[in-house]
Amino acid sequence: MKYMFLSLLPVFLFASQTTAQEPTLKTASLGADITEEWYFPAWLGNAPYAPIFEVRDTENKYGRYAKQTKTITIKDLIKYHGHFCGGLVESAASLRVAFDLLFPDKIIDRTDLRIVSNNSACGGDVAAYLTGSRARFGSHVIDNSLTESEFYVQQVSTGRTMHVKLNPAVYPKEVKTQMKKIESGVFEPKDIDLFQELQWAYAKRMVNSPLRDSFIIEEVKGYKWPEASCKDLGKRKDNDYKNTPWI
Ligand SMILES: [Zn+2]
Repeated sequence: MKYMFLSLLPVFLFASQTTAQEPTLKTASLGADITEEWYFPAWLGNAPYAPIFEVRDTENKYGRYAKQTKTITIKDLIKYHGHFCGGLVESAASLRVAFDLLFPDKIIDRTDLRIVSNNSACGGDVAAYLTGSRARFGSHVIDNSLTESEFYVQQVSTGRTMHVKLNPAVYPKEVKTQMKKIESGVFEPKDIDLFQELQWAYAKRMVNSPLRDSFIIEEVKGYKWPEASCKDLGKRKDNDYKNTPWI
């Protein structure tokens, strides 16, 4: 009986919504941290097309939608992921292009997204951080047939799904050659430095031209969501109260 009451509570709260007024949403771009650090070069913060994200979340475990957005920069992504790499910038740029179509108001609702990515440490981290999706809740699916910055990203409430991937013509041959050399196990220490140099030069080119030109994107109608990558460990519940009326 107690369980039944609790499970009906959100319904009751929504049903009582008659005069509720949601506060005006304030955006927070001015709070973006792009100051240079040893791990974050100045040019990456200042580049004209360096992706930046306004995200919206909830206020608390049983919270409503927050009244303000948060700003996520490449610097924040680096803090989470651990390093600045080509895959991180490429994946952030890829998702920026997808979000531009999914969220015309530019505010990314992290309570309303799920994503499919490959298992790249770099692209997978960007996918989880920017969308709020998590493999353990089934909202982040791993599909290794995708390339590193290729994603299917879906707005759950509408079912709208974008498929975005790098235009292969953009990827520099020399990065791939150097990557293969290192992964073969036959390399000199200087090859590691050269790889970083090449990746950073690639990232620099990317954030200095319109991102849309580097990616291929299409809306996929009727996309069949793949099976979860993790066993069912339970569903996320901390966003379930986001539409509770304001009093
Ligand atoms: Zn990385």
